[in-house]
Amino acid sequence: MRKIQMVDLKGQYQQIKQHVDQSIMSVIESTAFVNGPEVHQFQKELEDYLGVKHVIPCANGTDALQICMMGLGLKPGDEVITADFTFAATVEVIALLGLTPVLVDVDPVTFNIDVEAIKKAITPKTKAIVPVHLFGLAANMDEIMDLAKLHDLYVIEDNAQGIGGTYTSKDGTKKKTGGIGHAASTSFFPSKNLGCYGDGGAIFTNDDDLAHMIRGIVNHGMYVRYHHDVVGVNSRLDAIQAAVLRVKLPNLDTYNAKRKEAAKKYTNAFSSIENLITPTGFCDAENKSCSSCDCHVYHQYTLRVISADRDALAKHLNENDIPCGVYYPIPLHLQKAYVDERYNDADFKVTNQLVKEVISLPMHTELDDEQIDFITKTIIKFVTQ
Ligand SMILES: *Cc1c(COP(=O)(O)O)cnc(C)c1O
Repeated sequence: MRKIQMVDLKGQYQQIKQHVDQSIMSVIESTAFVNGPEVHQFQKELEDYLGVKHVIPCANGTDALQICMMGLGLKPGDEVITADFTFAATVEVIALLGLTPVLVDVDPVTFNIDVEAIKKAITPKTKAIVPVHLFGLAANMDEIMDLAKLHDLYVIEDNAQGIGGTYTSKDGTKKKTGGIGHAASTSFFPSKNLGCYGDGGAIFTNDDDLAHMIRGIVNHGMYVRYHHDVVGVNSRLDAIQAAVLRVKLPNLDTYNAKRKEAAKKYTNAFSSIENLITPTGFCDAENKSCSSCDCHVYHQYTLRVISADRDALAKHLNENDIPCGVYYPIPLHLQKAYVDERYNDADFKVTNQLVKEVISLPMHTELDDEQIDFITKTIIKFVTQ
């Protein structure tokens, strides 16, 4: 059996090596290393793929979130609601800009931000909601957009884990994640579903004015060379990264299909194991048009371990050369950087429970049946002993 990796970037590279090497070499020959034609081409290709009007490439997914908030003109004192159960980048940029983060609990089935909790957290100071399409599953965008409309709020989708995923609205329309809110951010960190070979990110929006604003912000607030109209940042995509992304983007649907295939095999293997809860594949299982499609792109395949020892299972897997991860081990409202007396621990029941139960299994485009079989059998044997 091939050695099991959490993410097998090398195996994936072998399949596209010739194209990637050629693309990188041609950037080096061109010496257009930052922005330039390669980045511009990638931008166009990603706009077409996503069906959004504007893609603005930038340096990483954290910058992308920050720049969305800058572009929307959020000001210190403005409250921004996001999920307690996510990667820290989401809340980090809110705090960094002097905005007030308002963390709320998540849904135990989808792991995504709980709409009822958002409703309770809205105040006259609330300016934006940042749903995260966690682990590759779209948040409940219908209800979030309705709430935003009602209270005149911006919605910024953190699509770092959801690229290529779809969201099915109640009326049956399907949209790619990242094209639903007022703006969205994504990350091309190597291990993401569309990863480059270094850092990279992008902002998406259908709003022409916002796109214009953001194009200046990513480049020192310049709209005309050496005229600085707003305070900006330096956040650009390297052409070498764009060259890699241009090779990988046409494969993104195939890559996500392979992830779904692996997820299906995991879920089938665990279907009769009572102390494991497998992830839902649906962004809204009660919605008839959703419950027949598969929206999840499985950035992570995350189990809940019930009435068995999650940490002991993780240790056992590692001892058997099966990598695994706990995303995330600590709720954000309990992280030292983000503790705040405004929070009441009792309002975070689900997150507090999930951090004790979740375990993410190897998930990538190169998993084979023999590996999946070994992983599932090792887990089942351990939790049923
Ligand atoms: C990876 C990630 C980010 C940050 O992206 P970087 O490119 O690493 O800065 C933000 N939000 C979520 C949910 C992520 O998973």
